[in-house]
Amino acid sequence: MNSPSAEFRIIALCILVLHTSVLQSQLRIRIFADKSPGSVLFSVTVGEYSLTDSNGRIKTMRSGESAIISRFNSGLAVKTNNDPAFICDSVHFSATDSKASFSVRINSDVPQRQYYTGDLICYPDLGTVVMINLPDIDSYLAGVVRAEGGSGKHIEYLKTQAIIARTYMYKYLHKHTSDRYNLCDNTHCQAFNGVINDSLIVKAVRDTRDLVILGRDSVLIISAFHSNCGGETASSGDVWLTGQPYLKSVKDPYCNNSRNARWKKVLSLNDWISYLNKSGLKEKPDEVLKINFAQSTRKTDYMTGNFSLPLQKIRDDLDLRSTFFSVRVEGDSVILDGKGYGHGVGLCQEGAMAMAEKGFDYRQIIYFYFEGVIISDINNAVQK
Ligand SMILES: [Zn+2]
Ligand SMILES: [Zn+2]
Repeated sequence: MNSPSAEFRIIALCILVLHTSVLQSQLRIRIFADKSPGSVLFSVTVGEYSLTDSNGRIKTMRSGESAIISRFNSGLAVKTNNDPAFICDSVHFSATDSKASFSVRINSDVPQRQYYTGDLICYPDLGTVVMINLPDIDSYLAGVVRAEGGSGKHIEYLKTQAIIARTYMYKYLHKHTSDRYNLCDNTHCQAFNGVINDSLIVKAVRDTRDLVILGRDSVLIISAFHSNCGGETASSGDVWLTGQPYLKSVKDPYCNNSRNARWKKVLSLNDWISYLNKSGLKEKPDEVLKINFAQSTRKTDYMTGNFSLPLQKIRDDLDLRSTFFSVRVEGDSVILDGKGYGHGVGLCQEGAMAMAEKGFDYRQIIYFYFEGVIISDINNAVQK
């Protein structure tokens, strides 16, 4: 029988093996996941690709050469330059070196073209061509930082966003396991629109390599973020079903002068009352004495008399930028004076950008928004 210390060593070894194997294995990202292309155009942009289909056919494709991959009966039809089309169940384009890259264009309402590195695997599913890209981790993270955080920002903010993206990637590597890939490229997972040439973002990813955010239990945190908190972040327990100790409300003095700090929506008084009536308010309009509602700090419910309605529901119903708003009657109108943009949980991007401009580094920024966390190497993370 194992002694407790031997058991501990085995558990520790398993954890290490798990993350190391993840680091060494290839990431599988479904690209154009929210589209349903019936056919796609693959073009080699740099270097060479080796095309292998499910029947064992092999062809080398050089820079400038293309392949059109279309849904055909239950399989795919593939047509490359100067060769007759052929039918197969799947096709794999392998990069012959790490510098090779390709573009993909899909036929949708607006033709979209995006650039990628690494391999591409195509197979059919429910009338569409499914595309799985196998990028290296740093290229993927740089693409996510640009898509989620934007270009032209301070390096310490970009490092912050890189660590958040890496934490998310490792935490949710198995989100699409039953679909035979790791993550999709839209906001269901993390936005990824292909590779980039932004040297500052590439540096931010490289300078923070392997760093992730862990909770007190050494488990990867839910690295939530939003555009602007309006001066106070939201506690995760007030927004989602479960609270996390590191996602507590924080007063944020940094984001007040940013682009998304304020918003306003004007409705007619009648529309507001009829909305409240539809949502369960019983009083007749002329009995509604107190429409006004103030939110100097974040609340969870709108209150008028004995009636209350979750702010989250109002935000969803009226498509508001945030739940952090006050309500005031002015003549025949109701004015919603809002603060912030997004769910408000975790890191406030515009506050983080302002902190970086003021000279805070990525550690100070992350420790400001996430309570009691540690920034650590991925190999120190434990699985729950
Ligand atoms: Zn997804
Ligand atoms: Zn903020």
